[in-house]
Amino acid sequence: TENRRVRSDSRSKAAFERAKRSIPGGVNSPVRAFKSVGLTPLVIDRASGSRITDIDGQSYIDYVLSWGPLIVGHAHPEVVEAIKRTAEKGTSFGAPTELETAMAELVCERMPSVEVVRMVNSGTEATMSALRLARGFTGRSKILKFEGSYHGHADSLLIKAGSGVATLGLPDSPGVPESIASHTITVPYNDIESVKLAFERYGEEIAAVIVEPVAGNMGVVPPLPGFLQGLREVTAKYGALLIFDEVMTGFRVGYHSAQGLYGITPDLTCMGKVIGGGLPVGAYGGRRELMEKMAPIGPIYQAGTLSGNPLAMAAGFTTLSLMTPESYEQLERLAVRLQAGLERSASEFGIPLTVNRVGSMICPFLTGEQVINFATASRSNAERFRTLFARLLDEGVNIPPSQFEGWFLSTAHSEEDIDRTVEAYRTALSKF
Ligand code: PMP
Repeated sequence: TENRRVRSDSRSKAAFERAKRSIPGGVNSPVRAFKSVGLTPLVIDRASGSRITDIDGQSYIDYVLSWGPLIVGHAHPEVVEAIKRTAEKGTSFGAPTELETAMAELVCERMPSVEVVRMVNSGTEATMSALRLARGFTGRSKILKFEGSYHGHADSLLIKAGSGVATLGLPDSPGVPESIASHTITVPYNDIESVKLAFERYGEEIAAVIVEPVAGNMGVVPPLPGFLQGLREVTAKYGALLIFDEVMTGFRVGYHSAQGLYGITPDLTCMGKVIGGGLPVGAYGGRRELMEKMAPIGPIYQAGTLSGNPLAMAAGFTTLSLMTPESYEQLERLAVRLQAGLERSASEFGIPLTVNRVGSMICPFLTGEQVINFATASRSNAERFRTLFARLLDEGVNIPPSQFEGWFLSTAHSEEDIDRTVEAYRTALSKF
């Protein structure tokens, strides 16, 4: 059957060779190159629901979902229809539309701490703008982030970063001036004592703490009990802002995102991925008093030719509208089933495995130890991961090509998809 066939990749190989002649590394974002797993990437033709199909004509159950946005699955008919309908009226105006207001209202309704929200075009823009606002508002320069967290590729944030930069071993990228890097303090995730020490030392200079409320760029690492609350308290004590980077967790881990799930109110929230439903969208928002420091009301500047783009708003609005509280329960049930299956397979073959999961963000680490930060995530067996990744592709399952990335589920995934995935995982593990 389709999923038992050994993967043929001749067309993908030829297409990728061609791409490398005109695109650096053949990709427009580094992790897509499959460099760390030593394979040729699948070159994609199309996707639908839970399935993605490459130009060699092979389909895979997809747990990458464009790195998170596609929570209702690929090419959801209602999302596609909304984009088409909107495109017929024009693709961009650079002027206010009613659609962007409807979108903002929906975001403010769902995201507990957000009273006012501004749309941008990527998660990177969202975090970059939120940092500028925090610095402009507080008049301070330093920021505190966590090792192994990724917040996009703005200069201040590309320090000890996770995701692709961790995968490729480039956490402190060349090209970031030392004068900028020196304003970024990094401490281990889930380590509130280190945060307190940093504040004792630099407290009056720190504009903000930026945190992924569930870390999703070193695999998946949930916050330990009290960690987020601790951040809330220490930032409040020193007059620094708490920024939740919910680019990955926003509208993903629950109807009210991570801040709703954990009951913590940040000052600013960054959004991306799901909010755009597969089109380029980011957003940042928070209390009115803070957000109105931005131009045109306030003096802090940020702008965008395509910000609030109608097609992007249509895709995002439709995606968020499709996600009801019951949708999150459905995702939870699927994810529980997947987690149990992966754990069962590992114990059957005596392979050390730690599965971390929050809602439909899930990551099996190839280690027997608890994973609570970047150091413990890094103890996962990298060689075994590479082998497992290739075997899963051969079994028709597409997972992210790095141990430092989580898997995502969509409402288009079925129980049968999950069971086939568990069977594929079992087969892959049985050969170790
Ligand atoms: N923040 C987080 C938590 C992310 O996971 C990402 C992307 N993976 C970003 C920011 C950057 O978003 P983008 O790639 O859209 O610039």
